[in-house]
Amino acid sequence: MGRMTFKTLDDIGDVRGKRVLVREDLNVPMDGARVTDDTRLRAAAPTIAELADKGAIVLVLAHFGRPKGVPSAEFSLAQIVRPLGQVLGREVRYVDWEGDKEAVATLQPGDIAVLENTRFFGGEEKNDPKVVERFASLGDIYVNDAFSAAHRAHASTEGLAHVLPAYAGRSMQAELEALGKALGNPQHPVAAVVGGAKVSTKLDVLKHLVSRVDHLIIGGGMANTFLAARGIDVGKSLCEHDLTNTVLEILDAAERANCTVHLPYDVVVSKEFKANPPTRTVNVHEVASDEMILDVGPAAVEALGDVLKTCKTLVWNGPMGAFETPPFDTATVALAKTAAALTQGGSLVSVAGGGDTVAALNHAGVADDFTFVSTAGGAFLEWMEGRELPGVKALTV
Ligand code: ADP
Ligand code: MG
Repeated sequence: MGRMTFKTLDDIGDVRGKRVLVREDLNVPMDGARVTDDTRLRAAAPTIAELADKGAIVLVLAHFGRPKGVPSAEFSLAQIVRPLGQVLGREVRYVDWEGDKEAVATLQPGDIAVLENTRFFGGEEKNDPKVVERFASLGDIYVNDAFSAAHRAHASTEGLAHVLPAYAGRSMQAELEALGKALGNPQHPVAAVVGGAKVSTKLDVLKHLVSRVDHLIIGGGMANTFLAARGIDVGKSLCEHDLTNTVLEILDAAERANCTVHLPYDVVVSKEFKANPPTRTVNVHEVASDEMILDVGPAAVEALGDVLKTCKTLVWNGPMGAFETPPFDTATVALAKTAAALTQGGSLVSVAGGGDTVAALNHAGVADDFTFVSTAGGAFLEWMEGRELPGVKALTV
């Protein structure tokens, strides 16, 4: 990914009395009327508050669920207005797509309103110029603060940036700066930890990383596929045997790029995949035919910690083992703690992302000790694949 420059709220000038359309990610998980995880609301708050404090009329644009162009109470953003107000500690209004022009016209400088679900327009996901125009007519300025939606070229995530003066919000800015430090223009040596269940879901990530990083640390179920490709019998482990050639190509590309690939040389195995079953810790050559590899072994984890100690930058996606099922969280927790300690000690810039990875780092209790943890899911993975995200590209000047 090339060098990116984009304008931020520092460049936005005097917004007093201006209508600012702010694209946020308000797509929070709910249990009935209750928001079960308000991470995204907390991420949205600084940009909304800053603009309101500067006297802007803040109009929040967001999608909620997958209504596919059909308005419904189930997917209405009306239900997020109160939770967002609570997180902000301010009054938040709600503006429906009927009578929105008139409703917006009554707002005063410093007011905050959430507009109804952008996906109630079928043209939102098609980036339909008519929908772009519909949104644009409500505002004077566009701020995109939703990195997690930036891998989609939708009207509210991409189209608006072409028709209004466009700026990155504080969350977007933090994400882009952290990701830039990790892979855009990182300090070497760079290590990548790639784990998780399958190679097949992360082929493009692996292919991109071998040319960008100095150390590629493979863990999780996908390490089994690498071990098998090298002729090791992985018994009943999760393994994609049909990817042998692909894996050999990745190993070849890594060698040509001077990227050292680290595979586990000891592993924790069990005959049963359940909590606290009988386990053995063995050399990778000693896995029995009725056993499964469920975690990286302690000797490998210690060696990997030593690798991280020589590195200045770390990017991490995917757990090292089946971390939801004890004791197969051990390697993930240990390596995460090492990375966190190195980060806190000032020798390592550490950036992590991915749904299960964030859960694993929270489980290890170290998410706050990493330099940056991205909750962006799909957008984070596409960024790790080296792809240009349309929502980010449209902000680039
Ligand atoms: P992320 O969501 O962070 O991108 P993935 O979805 O790729 O991560 O992978 C996470 C899943 O991989 C977890 O559910 C974990 O249990 C599973 N996993 C990790 N190691 C193994 C293993 N050795 N065998 C089976 N599953 C594993
Ligand atoms: Mg996952």
